[in-house]
Amino acid sequence: MQLKDPSKAIAVNWAEYESPETRYCPAGVYEILDDASSGGKRLQINAQNCVHCKTCDIKDPTQNINWVVPQGGGGPNYPNM
Ligand code: SF4
Repeated sequence: MQLKDPSKAIAVNWAEYESPETRYCPAGVYEILDDASSGGKRLQINAQNCVHCKTCDIKDPTQNINWVVPQGGGGPNYPNM
């Protein structure tokens, strides 16, 4: 996933909504961390955790998250289904 405008992660999502992506993402991909260099917050994207549910592509308040189909071979592997 990519942010169309990375600055919105803090300026809009965090400032106005307390970063809903940290709550609706079932895989903990989005984390708000303290940013030691600025003294503020920063968004960390743990892309390797993504289970490709596409919720973030739909629910981002400003449609700023662009979920992209992973390259072949990526995606969740459910061996017991
Ligand atoms: S597609 Fe689903 S699992 Fe992946 S980052 Fe978005 S909300 Fe999280």
